[in-house]
Parts: sequence; structure tokens; C-alpha cells
Amino acid sequence: MEWDVVIAGAGLAGLSCGLELSLQGKKVLILEADPVVGGRCSNWNDGGMAVESGFHRFIGYYKALPSLLRKAGVNPDEMLTWEEKIDVLIKGKNKKLVLGIAPIHGFIKMIRGITGNQDVLTMRDKLSLVPFFLHGYKDYLLRPGKLDHYSIKAYADRHGVTDAAFDYLLIPLSSGIYFLPPDRYSAYVFFGLFAPAIPKFYKMRIGAFLGGMTDVMCQPIADKIIELGGSIQTGEKVTGILMDDLGKISGVQGTNRKKYRARQVVVATSLVGAKQILSSYKDHPSLSNLFKLPMMPAATFQIELDKPALEKDITTFGPKTILASFAEQSRTTFRESEGRLSIILTPPERFLEMEAEETLKRVIADFQTLGIHLNGKVKDYRQINHPEDFYSLAPGNDALRPDQQTSIEGLILAGDYTKQPFFSTMEGAVVSGQKAAALTLKALEKG
Ligand SMILES: Cc1cc2nc3c(=O)[nH]c(=O)nc-3n(C[C@H](O)[C@H](O)[C@H](O)COP(=O)(O)OP(=O)(O)OC[C@H]3O[C@@H](n4cnc5c(N)ncnc54)[C@H](O)[C@@H]3O)c2cc1C
Repeated sequence: MEWDVVIAGAGLAGLSCGLELSLQGKKVLILEADPVVGGRCSNWNDGGMAVESGFHRFIGYYKALPSLLRKAGVNPDEMLTWEEKIDVLIKGKNKKLVLGIAPIHGFIKMIRGITGNQDVLTMRDKLSLVPFFLHGYKDYLLRPGKLDHYSIKAYADRHGVTDAAFDYLLIPLSSGIYFLPPDRYSAYVFFGLFAPAIPKFYKMRIGAFLGGMTDVMCQPIADKIIELGGSIQTGEKVTGILMDDLGKISGVQGTNRKKYRARQVVVATSLVGAKQILSSYKDHPSLSNLFKLPMMPAATFQIELDKPALEKDITTFGPKTILASFAEQSRTTFRESEGRLSIILTPPERFLEMEAEETLKRVIADFQTLGIHLNGKVKDYRQINHPEDFYSLAPGNDALRPDQQTSIEGLILAGDYTKQPFFSTMEGAVVSGQKAAALTLKALEKG
């Protein structure tokens, strides 16, 4: 059987590409190596414990993802609960910084955040951030290439950010979001993530998922693709690309050398998957940047508790600890749990080889310094690592991100690492998938 398109990977990039093509009447086959769809946005049962790929927040300015969800029959407002503030817990001081993040939806909380919190940040600390953000936004728009050569730390030093503002605001807003310490995190990526919020400030707030991300978001998209005549095979790893006698791509190879014939191939895996599938094209000029683009890990830890660890399910940061960001989720994502902490660890490299039991000890010790006591309350735990799933957000890498279009006939790329303005986010993955779908349609029409 020959498909119009075969897509490798059923993360948000592959699913958005698949849905757009199915809506245009194309015959789509998606092959996914994991047993569930969703990739880095998934949940599953790990030996009796419900887990997720890592806790996620849906940013109010996202546009492509909510529109995709509506096409799949999912109402984003029913899938999410909106937060208007975030907490930053101060190590060893039993204090917290409360930051309003929703200028319209939570105006009072925002003003309180700016004028209050004086016991952690003085007015001088807060004012030291003004030139940092103004120059950063300007450089993001006018000199993106130059900005990508600065780390956040170097850029903050250059613009006179005080130590307290750096520790309690810039660390949470950088390591808390992308796990990397600010001296290894590109200033271009940092400002790039905030930039879309400026023209759409009225939309700003962050959404927590009401249920696992496969269950409430990715599986419904997959179901819609199937309803439209497409097919999705989970547990099938793509191992290579097939070519016809004329050297044109004619499909992909799965496990046990199984052949899947298609007129077009979209590789919509994470970067590491793309490097493996396309290894025979390593020297092709169109893919040289893809092979040069470095990867970085993420490490998460998830704990089942006998009662909630925090009063509210809210995004929380623990700067200067290994707890980059965390949230209690027993009233949101994991409502079957009596208590549930989902944590993103920093720096991730330290935890990739560490036994989960040892990580648990360190996690409990660091929670203690933030005033959260977990001893005797832990029922179960899992460490979920992503050793090479992200392209590296370190300075100097943005120019290496490949376009979705390749010069290899029949081959298109999708995935959050490919060139689009939303970096490694759910929105970025969806935008990449939609761009890949538009290019695929054009190629199919050309014949
Ligand atoms: C811990 C964590 C926290 C995050 N927090 C946020 C957040 O708060 N907000 C936000 O917007 N984003 C967040 N992200 C990022 C977001 O999850 C990703 O940017 C997005 O899911 C990437 O989608 P993708 O489709 O590009 O890649 P992936 O989701 O990685 O999908 C690729 C798929 O390809 C499959 N695959 C790989 N190799 C093969 C092969 N050979 N054959 C077949 N299939 C293959 C994989 O199994 C996977 O399902 C977070 C990610 C993590 C890990």
C-alpha cells in the first residue's frame, strides 16, 4: 500500500502535520516508536505509577496549538486551568516571592508583585531589571544573531542586574523554564520566549493541564486523524529512509526491515531521532546544520505523596536548589493521586546516571531548605529523563536550526528544533508541523 505521506514521530509536531494533511484529504500514516502518542507531551503508567514526560505549562499567547486543538474537537479551556501568579521560594529563608504574570486576568496580583515582595527584592533590585529587559527586547528584534552569542548571565552582568534580582528572578525565569544554568543559556532564547507576550500582553497567563497530556491533548488529535482516514502505529520505530531506483525518497523502513511506501516523508522526531533516521544523509549539504546542532538533556522527578505538598497546584520555582521548577498536581493533572509533585531538575546532566533513590534523597533535602517537608510522606517515585531530546539552547546554536524544507526531494522535517520562532515549546512543535504540512501539500500537488 502506498500512502500520500508517512510521518515519523507522533509528538505534537508529527500530530499537527498529520492532522493538517488529513484535513486536506491526504492519506497519512504516522509511525511512533513509543507505545503512546505525545512524545515529550505524554503520560503513561510506569509499573503501577501514573507518570508524565514532565510538567508543562500552556502559555496564554499560544495561537497555533489552541487552533489545532479546536480542529481536533478539543476546547482548550476545558483542558486547562489558568494560573495568574507564580511563586518563587527562597532557599533557607522561609520567604517567597509572588509574581503576577497576567496583566489583564490578574491585574492586582501583577501590581502587587511589582510593588510588593520588598523583603526579597528592593526597589533597586527591581529597577536594575529595566535596562536588562529593554535592551534585551531591542536586541532580540534588531540584533538577534549578536544576542545569541551572550549567555543570560553575561547579558545580565553587562546591564547591571543586581545579585538578588539575578538569583530570585532571572534564575527562575531561565533555569526554571529550560533547566540550564543562566551562564549556559542563550540570551536570545530567553528574550525570544518573552517577546511574543509583549504584543499579546492581554493574553498572558499560564495554563496547567487537567489530566495527562496524552489523554487530554495528544490522543484526541490522533483520534481525529484516524477519523479522517489516517493511520497511527505506535511501537514502530523508523530505522531509515527508502529510495527508489531514481534516487528519490519513496518511504521509510521500520523495525524488522518492514517497508512503508509513501510519496512524501516527514521526519517529525526529536533531534536525536532525526539524526538516527537520516544518518545515511550525514554528508548531505542540506542537512549539515542538523548534524552540527548539539543536543541537551532534561531530567524530571515525580513523587506520589499521601497528601498534597502545597496548598495550591501552582507553578513554583526553587532558585539555588536542584528544584528548577515544580508543581503540586493532585488537583489538576493527576487527580487520582492524594498528593503529587512533578519536578524539573537542574542542572540535568547530574541526574542522568543517578539512581532514583539517591535523587529522591537530594530532592527531599532541597525541599526541606524551601520549607517543604516530605519525609515519611512519599508513597512512590519515578525519575523520567530525556537524555538527548532537546536541541541545545546554549549561546551560538540558533543559526544551526534547520528549516523544515530540505533540498532532498520527498523529505521534509518537523520538530521543535527546526526553525520557527517559539523554540522548544509545544507551540513551536505545532508551528513546525504546520509548516511541514504546507510544504508537503505543495510537493504532493507538484506530483
Ligand atoms: C520536562 C519538560 C517540560 C517541558 N515544559 C514545557 C512547557 O511548560 N511548555 C511548553 O510549551 N513546552 C514544554 N516542553 C517542551 C515540549 O514538550 C516540546 O517542545 C514538544 O513536545 C516537542 O514536540 P515534538 O513533536 O517536536 O517532539 P517530541 O515530543 O519529542 O516528539 C517526537 C516523537 O518522535 C518519536 N520518535 C523518535 N524517534 C523515532 C523513530 N525513529 N521512529 C518513530 N518515532 C520516533 C518519539 O518517541 C516522540 O514521540 C517541555 C518538555 C519537557 C521534556
